[in-house]
Amino acid sequence: MLSYQHIYHAANFADVQKHALLAQVLKSLAVKPAPLCAFDTHAGRGLYALEDTEAQKNREFDNGITALWPLRAEAPPALRPYLDVVSALNPDGTLSFYPGSAMLCRQMLRAADRLIATERHPGEFGHLQQAMAKGAASAKPRIQTLLGDGLKTLVDTLPVTERRALAVIDPSYEMKTDYADVPKAILRALKKMPQLCVFLWYPMLGAGGHRLMLTELVKSGVRDALVSEIRLDAPPQEHFRMTGSGILIINPPWPEAVMNDVTQAVTSRLPAKAFGDVFWLDNCRINPDTGLIVI
Ligand code: SAH
Repeated sequence: MLSYQHIYHAANFADVQKHALLAQVLKSLAVKPAPLCAFDTHAGRGLYALEDTEAQKNREFDNGITALWPLRAEAPPALRPYLDVVSALNPDGTLSFYPGSAMLCRQMLRAADRLIATERHPGEFGHLQQAMAKGAASAKPRIQTLLGDGLKTLVDTLPVTERRALAVIDPSYEMKTDYADVPKAILRALKKMPQLCVFLWYPMLGAGGHRLMLTELVKSGVRDALVSEIRLDAPPQEHFRMTGSGILIINPPWPEAVMNDVTQAVTSRLPAKAFGDVFWLDNCRINPDTGLIVI
């Protein structure tokens, strides 16, 4: 049984990087009137109460949203779409609620759009259903919440009748097999819908599972794939195993400059010393000795 609960990590530096970039993707995809179908394959709770004991345990949000929240009134353009959503959920100005990927989609998609949010953990799924039901129904996209395997749902559902689609893939990587299953699912999804915008998060850990995953994608000839990585100089807390956080976007809806601006806007404001890198996977080569990509 899977036991990961994202609330323990909600709104940390990796969430801020992920959600600030996702908000820019959603903003850009909403420019064209044609409807969009968004998949959130690993949706989690949708909404996180930062006062909950689980979130308070390590207060990872202190090296995350807490540092950016004061900017909300005059946010730089790179962070504005993201901070606008966080602000809308905290109308009294006290930071209590933090939007996960599904809530960002729910808030930024339009009435003609569709969201398919999948979560495998029954407890988390219950929270997700509640979060998605909140607020004014009139402004919402059509939302389907599914209990089950998000990668399977994505691959089985594609291609969709909407000609544009987004796949947010944010696994917990609790199982080592995730590192092999995720690239496989991405390749199958792209085969069914080549124009799909894929938005993948990965943790950077000592074992380097993320490099295997990226290597697989490079070997399979994936093109038009942009990466943002934020590395921490030192772990912000003792329990912390992640050395960094990465976002891969295949078929990004905007130029590299947006990825750069958001990555820098986040890294420069974190209390922990951090470094940001942006690169195209297209330019990465495979080291013939190790069989792994050189970044
Ligand atoms: N995307 C969320 C955080 C998700 S954390 C956010 O931005 O807030 C990862 C979630 O994936 C966990 O809740 C875990 O239970 C769930 N999960 C793990 N494997 C899954 C799978 N194969 N399909 C769907 N959900 C899965």
